Amino acid sequence: MNKIVLINGSLCIGCGKCVELCPEKILYIDSASKKCKVSDESACDKRRGCERVCPVKAIKIK
Ligand code: SF4
Ligand code: SF4
Repeated sequence: MNKIVLINGSLCIGCGKCVELCPEKILYIDSASKKCKVSDESACDKRRGCERVCPVKAIKIK
């Protein structure tokens, strides 16, 4: 499976800004790790809203 949404777990601070913004609702905060995860990458619009909103540049769209 191709990786589209790349999340750097060591940078993510779990702020949830990308989760709130994502129009496709495919990002969520994992309750165990408190880090951002992606559910269904195939639904990603690739418009990079999450990249722009992330304060620590932990998320990249390929
Ligand atoms: S690029 Fe858009 S649709 Fe894809 S994960 Fe980021 S905010 Fe969501
Ligand atoms: S905006 Fe960045 S730091 Fe915040 S939850 Fe999303 S990936 Fe993690």
